[in-house]
Amino acid sequence: MTEQRVELLSLLPEELEAWMLSVGEPKYRARQIFPQLHRGIAPDEMTNIGKKLQEKLREHFLWHLPVVERKLISALDGTVKYLVSLSDGNCVESVVMKYSHGNTVCISSQVGCRMGCKFCASTIGGKVRDLTPAELLGQVIAAQKDMGERISNIVMMGIGEPLDNYDNVMKFLKLVNHEEGVNIGYRHISLSTCGLVNRIEQLAEENLPITLSISLHAPDDETRSAIMPVNNRWGVDELLDACRAYFAKTGRRISFEYTLIAGKNDSVANAQKLARVLNAKLRSRTDTMPIHVNLIPVNEVDETGFTRSGKDAVAAFAKTLEGKGIRATVRRKLGADINASCGQLRRAAMQE
Ligand code: SAH
Repeated sequence: MTEQRVELLSLLPEELEAWMLSVGEPKYRARQIFPQLHRGIAPDEMTNIGKKLQEKLREHFLWHLPVVERKLISALDGTVKYLVSLSDGNCVESVVMKYSHGNTVCISSQVGCRMGCKFCASTIGGKVRDLTPAELLGQVIAAQKDMGERISNIVMMGIGEPLDNYDNVMKFLKLVNHEEGVNIGYRHISLSTCGLVNRIEQLAEENLPITLSISLHAPDDETRSAIMPVNNRWGVDELLDACRAYFAKTGRRISFEYTLIAGKNDSVANAQKLARVLNAKLRSRTDTMPIHVNLIPVNEVDETGFTRSGKDAVAAFAKTLEGKGIRATVRRKLGADINASCGQLRRAAMQE
């Protein structure tokens, strides 16, 4: 039989209040347990509620935090990579990166992914299922609990396509932002997408001051479609139009990710084209958007056969963009010794 109980971590305080009233408990109980739940304390461990309420909670709700199955710590920079299991035994990855401005957790949004990007390890076995709001939040809580340190930033750049799990991600954002819970400000949350244009349009309407990252990876349809099947549905033009509209609506600048793959998308001609298309699409109007491109030499994944661009090619690419007024940074690689980019640990565990 499938689990019918609602996940306790999926409810906002007002939803918990309504439930408390419905089972004859005083409303204030909700406000009592919510902060504890969001620190990872199980109802059965709570000392300020009675046995009867604990029993009711057990009967009506599912309580499960992602369980750390494996933990790798980078000797180089302290990056911590987790393989965590969910209540049904599926596993995803989360990574904690230590920056001078605080700890950032990178979380997964789905078990697997169905976007099919050719360079990516997470999509190789397809999508198994979406993560629930409680599982999205649970990764943050579990990481914070395990680290014993506050996590102040979230990036949704792990396994999965967050905008392909739209409703659950929206609920998660409300939960994790709640001041009585984990309390991470929207400005400290980044969401990365391979470019689901209909969802970017929907997101613009939500009015959340999160940071949107676009995995662009190519300046034109031919190059992009060859490595990202999603481009067959929405091409580069349409995607950048959606970006401009997003910025016009929200005032939030968008950052672009560009994975450099040797011989595929890393030539100076590619960089020139990229600068041209970004400037033309995002800068010709009155609402000029500051443009920032993150360059990421591709992480080599056995199954894909792609190789990372050499140092010189990366430097030439960055210089070409800068020369055309586009800020480009080469992403500092964290956790190089633990394969910290997502998807690889889960695959290794599945193969064993
Ligand atoms: N689905 C979302 C978020 C997950 S991937 C998205 O596509 O943005 C997070 C980032 O890692 C994306 O920019 C993705 O393109 C990139 N990525 C995936 N596999 C990679 C690899 N092997 N090397 C470098 N970057 C990779």
